[in-house]
Amino acid sequence: MKLCIDLGATNVKGALVRNGTIVETASSPTLHFHGREGILSSLARTSDALFSEGVSEVCVSSAGDIDRETGICTYATGNLEDFTGFDFPAYYGERYGLPCHAANDGYCALLGELRFGAGRKFPTANIAMLTLGSGVGGAYAPGGVPDATKSSGAGKLGHLILHEDGLPCNCGKKGCIEQYLSGRAINRLANRFGLENDTLFSAFRAGDERAKKVFAVVAAELDAALRLIDAACPFDVCILGGGVVEGIGESFGALQANVSKQIVAAELGNRAGIFGAYCLTEDFS
Ligand SMILES: [Zn+2]
Repeated sequence: MKLCIDLGATNVKGALVRNGTIVETASSPTLHFHGREGILSSLARTSDALFSEGVSEVCVSSAGDIDRETGICTYATGNLEDFTGFDFPAYYGERYGLPCHAANDGYCALLGELRFGAGRKFPTANIAMLTLGSGVGGAYAPGGVPDATKSSGAGKLGHLILHEDGLPCNCGKKGCIEQYLSGRAINRLANRFGLENDTLFSAFRAGDERAKKVFAVVAAELDAALRLIDAACPFDVCILGGGVVEGIGESFGALQANVSKQIVAAELGNRAGIFGAYCLTEDFS
């Protein structure tokens, strides 16, 4: 049985997974405003709530750049303040005496979708994945095999420059995809049209004219982002995941109709990181 952790900017989610089935879950808010100390207290709270004698290893999906080989966070943006340099295997080795594997959340989400979700229909295609949540993560699997070097947070797909000299990003660059397609960015845009946070897609379904305008802008930004990603990582299908896509729900077809590349909705929802972490090692017991 594996203890699987999904460390995001908003929550630290965890699950015990046995034979591909989630048997128990826990979650706590990520206290990122207190720097590394806050993040670690959240990580410990979720992990300790689940840890038991039957756990054989810890697998972590984390925001930021995580070295797939060493499990060390090589770069974290302001979403996980002061987390650069954090060593997941050393932390869990000391805490529980167990081996630990860690990778970037974009990479893990794709790994999970390929094995348990939307990717199963396209076993040999060139697949890209874009996760639209608090931030924007991306991952790439040419021929259905995830490429760790092209699947990461900062400096990778979510931070390709969509608009030259555009909105400042917390990675230090300007005009990144994340500044136009993250949940926060979409809320910001919707607010300008008089819509409350997280009401865009329900308003769109209800036929609200303001929501239709915002939706059209989001679709155009997504189309431009997909072209940009295709130039860097040529893909046949892009799996779209994250909280934004869950919010879109049945309007996903309207989004598909407005972009030129083939897109499909992720199927694992907020469990993608957990299942992806579970897939980091080949022992599926
Ligand atoms: Zn950026």
